[in-house]
Amino acid sequence: MESDSEIVNNFDSDEEELQEENEENMLEYNQNEFQFEKIYKNLIDIHLLQKEFQCAKCGKIMVMVNDNSTIDKKIFRCRGNNPIHDSKINIRKNSIFEGFQIPLYILYYLTLECFPFNVGVNKSLIEIDGLCKKINKPSTTNKTIIKLYRLLREKIRIKYHEEWKKKPLGMEPSTNGVPRVEIDESEIIGNQNKILWMFGMIDRADKEARVFCVMNNRTKENLLPIIKENIYTYDENEENEDSDENNNLAISLKTRIYSDCYSVYQTNDFKDMGYILHRVNHSVWFGQGLFHTNSIEGLWSQIKRLSNNFSGLSINQLENMENNGINIKNYLDGWICYALFLRMIEKRKLSKLNTKNYLIDFLKIY
Ligand SMILES: [Zn+2]
Repeated sequence: MESDSEIVNNFDSDEEELQEENEENMLEYNQNEFQFEKIYKNLIDIHLLQKEFQCAKCGKIMVMVNDNSTIDKKIFRCRGNNPIHDSKINIRKNSIFEGFQIPLYILYYLTLECFPFNVGVNKSLIEIDGLCKKINKPSTTNKTIIKLYRLLREKIRIKYHEEWKKKPLGMEPSTNGVPRVEIDESEIIGNQNKILWMFGMIDRADKEARVFCVMNNRTKENLLPIIKENIYTYDENEENEDSDENNNLAISLKTRIYSDCYSVYQTNDFKDMGYILHRVNHSVWFGQGLFHTNSIEGLWSQIKRLSNNFSGLSINQLENMENNGINIKNYLDGWICYALFLRMIEKRKLSKLNTKNYLIDFLKIY
């Protein structure tokens, strides 16, 4: 397999040829969609690249000039004389593309045309190869695509987790004007020695869902704080507390939580936190009236489908990654959040353009 550095060299010689033909005037190439000027302008328009930089030495706005030492052949530069200085800034600085040694047209295509449509690494590589052949430019490697997609999933993870901290589930009334949230855990991956779990919740009113990787820790101490942080409940007078839903005298507005009979979910703990817990015994209650966990069961199958079952991960692979300094919990949360992201696109039936815009919201740098 070709290494990234070989690819970079191919691209360099290709670009040099173009520059010989066309000298400084890059703009003449803009009928070609993969020309630097067009891609660069688009990336600025959608806020994935910074439009301008201020010189740290003199405060003036820096000018973009040609520079063959960078992959983009462009840098921002300021040559001031008070005091005399020569400052340079890479045009990708602060952007998600900063650490990549491949051309912007490839990053652009993978980020906006492949990733938000769940194309997967192998298919993305075939697509980008085909396109690059057409325009007679070098392609990239699956290693680079894996690195890019991991970074994109990480951006989605960070934004979802930030948003979740701002507003809990259970704010919207469901049946009988009462908020209802289902909770459950599901296995991400496992072998005889170890099982890694995700813990999820879904609001029945609007089907908004949150899922967290909880590793191999499904204890009360680990799960209850997640519930408390993510599910709202009304702080009301004690008198309504024991009201029965079937006698409509006074229905408590406290959030109902539906779970299976997993031993961690104990009525008294939930009562202490201000919720009313309904444990659904699947063998007896499954599918009966309000007492079910159908929504979260549906969520698990969606997550597993949309994450391509976490792309065939194994515990061994994860342990290797961990030994290489990768935070496995964040990595798995990244896959989970990517699946939630794709689920939202499906749920809202977003057009191709709106799907891209939805992704851009996660990646914008300003
Ligand atoms: Zn300056």
